[in-house]
Amino acid sequence: MNATGAVFLDRDGTIIEEVGYLDRPERVELYPYSIEAIRALNRAGLTLVMVTNQSGVARGFFSEEVVHAVHRHIADLLAAGGAWLDAYYYCPHHPDGRVAEYATACQCRKPERGMVDRAVRELGIDPARSFTVGDRWLDVALAQRVGARGVLVRTGYGLTEEQKPKPDVRADAVVNNLAEAAGWILRRATRT
Ligand SMILES: [Mg+2]
Ligand SMILES: [Zn+2]
Repeated sequence: MNATGAVFLDRDGTIIEEVGYLDRPERVELYPYSIEAIRALNRAGLTLVMVTNQSGVARGFFSEEVVHAVHRHIADLLAAGGAWLDAYYYCPHHPDGRVAEYATACQCRKPERGMVDRAVRELGIDPARSFTVGDRWLDVALAQRVGARGVLVRTGYGLTEEQKPKPDVRADAVVNNLAEAAGWILRRATRT
């Protein structure tokens, strides 16, 4: 079996509204197009993997259980619209964290590639046929590190990021939102 392509989706500012440190499921607000965009990617046979930095855990703002509850809530909202993510990965670490067990320079905090490597192991995906979508340069930098294609969306911090280019990070596309990112990807994804 050939390894399939994946879309690595950032969470905050990409699938849901950026609200700072999201510490309660009730604060989750999907963008109005998120369900339809994700459903279109589902139908194309792409593996969809959330990859989100949640340093609020290391900073002591909320627990991993809260992160799980937020992700269950997102999964419920998506399911009501016939959409799903195949995996929900997050990094709870930060080198400056206050909670000792998470205060580490890990290999999973984007733009480090740990969450992509986990998807390769657990889901059998091929990074070279994959994409990242996110509102920060670090989401694009992740794509560059693993040989995927990186799409920057202008939601969340995206517009601000676009205005502060990074010399060593180049997006394959800059689009307005996740709906446009899905369209861009669907025109390029190779079917298996
Ligand atoms: Mg984000
Ligand atoms: Zn980590």
